[in-house]
Amino acid sequence: MSYWRKHLKPLLDDEIGTIRRHASTRVALGFPNRYSVGMASLGYQVIYRMFNEEEGFSCERAFLPDDLELFRKTGETLPMLESGNPVGQADMIALSVSFELDLTNIIRFLECAGINPWREERDESDPIIIVGGPLTSSNPYPVAPFADIICIGDGELIVPIIAEAWREASSRAEFLADLEGRPGIYLPDRMKHEPMWATAPKEKLPAYSQIVTPHSELSNMYLVEAQRGCPRPCTFCLARTMYGPNRNNEADDLLACIPDWVKKVGLVGAALSDFKHTKYVGRTLTERGVKLGVSSIRADTVDEELAQILRDGGLRSFTVASDAPSQRLRDWMKKGISEADLLRTAHLSKKLGFSSLKVYMMIGLPPENDDDITELIAFSKELAGITKVAMGISPFVPKRHTPHHADPFVGVEAIEKRFKRIQKELRRDLELRNVSAKWAWVEQVIARGDSSIGKAAYLVKDNESYSAWIKALEEIGWKDEYAHNIVTFEQQPGQVIKPSVPMLYA
Ligand code: SF4
Repeated sequence: MSYWRKHLKPLLDDEIGTIRRHASTRVALGFPNRYSVGMASLGYQVIYRMFNEEEGFSCERAFLPDDLELFRKTGETLPMLESGNPVGQADMIALSVSFELDLTNIIRFLECAGINPWREERDESDPIIIVGGPLTSSNPYPVAPFADIICIGDGELIVPIIAEAWREASSRAEFLADLEGRPGIYLPDRMKHEPMWATAPKEKLPAYSQIVTPHSELSNMYLVEAQRGCPRPCTFCLARTMYGPNRNNEADDLLACIPDWVKKVGLVGAALSDFKHTKYVGRTLTERGVKLGVSSIRADTVDEELAQILRDGGLRSFTVASDAPSQRLRDWMKKGISEADLLRTAHLSKKLGFSSLKVYMMIGLPPENDDDITELIAFSKELAGITKVAMGISPFVPKRHTPHHADPFVGVEAIEKRFKRIQKELRRDLELRNVSAKWAWVEQVIARGDSSIGKAAYLVKDNESYSAWIKALEEIGWKDEYAHNIVTFEQQPGQVIKPSVPMLYA
């Protein structure tokens, strides 16, 4: 039995909303991770619908196999989901990449499809390779050795540009030449630098799901985007810069996107308690018997009415971000959340019968010291005294397009030491989960790296580990250009002390 029939056909049979279309130009829309992860990506679903709406185009999906070793043993090449035809038969392979650590998966995906990952070694007979998504909007350069076209910004604007250029071109060279200089299009073999983000006008929004499936990480959830971007000034976050400017959708437009058969709706937005229609949309849906999910709620703007709507919508745990271990660091990063906000949310969560309060936390901020961790521990105990708390702790990863882009990564050892202390002192009070400091280090290398990082990714793709990354980076001669920068609490984020360059971001 083929890989498609055994592993993919059953997934397809459980979907609602699959598009089956035949047209002269075939696009394989790849997600270089598992099906369950890709199908939870609203951006991925939107691009799928958009390519299928373009005249002369049909689009099928493809995912990295859950078990890569097993797949390789079949000797087959990666199939497209809808037809089972090989991905390599498509005219274009468009990859949507959400995470830095999926860089190696891009290479694995192309190899599984029988495509040479190196752009310079491919020719006219190969499909055009397009890479987009949050990763390339944040930092396109590590992907540059593999992609013919890199997309920066909103797909709603970029997909029609690509489709139109393709329809009008009589050759591959003409197609690429036409794309040069167009909004959001970066051609790594023709352009030195990435262009500005392509920003979709509000008329092209809201984004909404195409397919609902029980096998998504957000099982059977239909997603609709309430807001894109965020007007808040939190200095570590890309929502304001990468997804900006802030665009809020109208309540009726959101409701109009949701078909009657939908039983579970996920509202997507950077800070949904700031969004003026969340209560109205939430109440309207719960009155229809629809279950609700929300991507983010700020502890300073949630009130009892909103919390009650979410509870009525079946939300079991309440999730807020603290994002820094102490008040002085939350203030330093302009988070705008106080201890009082978090305590009030914990009381609200308890009062309304939520099973737990989930708190997102970051540690490893450059000016952080032991006193900040002491405050985190004491305050977490206070929260846990009010309600059941589950805390997810991630190391701080400086990103491009934020004031922190030249901050040093605090270091694997330092973060692990802080994790250990937090575990030791809090493990009896609350549930703790932390993101690996080692993988956060790799993430920050990719998040700020150039095209040589793509070469390092190629070296590790068959045997990826933290130590393999260190070895590969040594081999390509990588140097951490940010390691010796100094960031102190007295400086504003963006002011980095470095010989001769006192301020890198204004
Ligand atoms: S952390 Fe939240 S509130 Fe702050 S800018 Fe990002 S999305 Fe907006």
